Amino acid sequence: MSFIIAIDGPAGSGKGTITKRVANKIGFLRLDTGALYRCLTLEVLRNKIDINDIQKMVDIVHNMKIEFVTNEDMNELDYVFLNKEDVTKVIRSNEVNNIISVISSIKEVREAMLHIQRNIAKEKNTIMEGRDIGTVVFPNADLKIYLNADMEERARRRYKENMEKGINTTYEEVLQILKNRDKIDMEREVAPLKKAEDAIEIDSTNMSIEEVVERIVGLYYNRCGSKA
Ligand code: C5P
Repeated sequence: MSFIIAIDGPAGSGKGTITKRVANKIGFLRLDTGALYRCLTLEVLRNKIDINDIQKMVDIVHNMKIEFVTNEDMNELDYVFLNKEDVTKVIRSNEVNNIISVISSIKEVREAMLHIQRNIAKEKNTIMEGRDIGTVVFPNADLKIYLNADMEERARRRYKENMEKGINTTYEEVLQILKNRDKIDMEREVAPLKKAEDAIEIDSTNMSIEEVVERIVGLYYNRCGSKA
């Protein structure tokens, strides 16, 4: 049986970078489930699909071929290929961010995603990050973390990241989009973002990336000792 680590938390809480580093340290497969929802959203935008056309969106989920290719730079997220095209940057654009939470709140879309996520972790020790990993996708995960940070700090981090990548936005824009996304993600009826009862909450507002990584790696070794 594989060991599952679930990492949930709001946008900009550092899940991506932290999950990547933890996976690298302990030799786990890593899955960024946000990238799956981002690829779907990109397809919806590009093909001008009406967001009321649920069947079309479910078909896309079943047919899209997503590959992750490791970026050796530990500060960078891995490359994402959608149907062989490198979409790493475009899936993080404002256009995608603006509408993704609406698409992610559709029940049928989430059900289709559920199978994909569960299949990936079937045979391999996996660390999976998202919004509902510890509550819905893997309610029996071996270790659950809820990663959080103050809203303003999360917006500052995202804004800095955008600047470094040459993405042109203002801090206010970033803050507004984060607020909207969090609100929809937390208030949706299906699989809302919330801390699982048995998750350990880590507030990273005043912590460095390395400190958070060490904390999670430590918790993992404690847990796998007690599981063995
Ligand atoms: O993690 P990331 O910021 O890339 O996620 C983008 C969006 O995808 C979230 O704001 C949320 O609407 C959706 N999402 C989700 N469930 C997940 C992962 C992401 O609803 N497991």
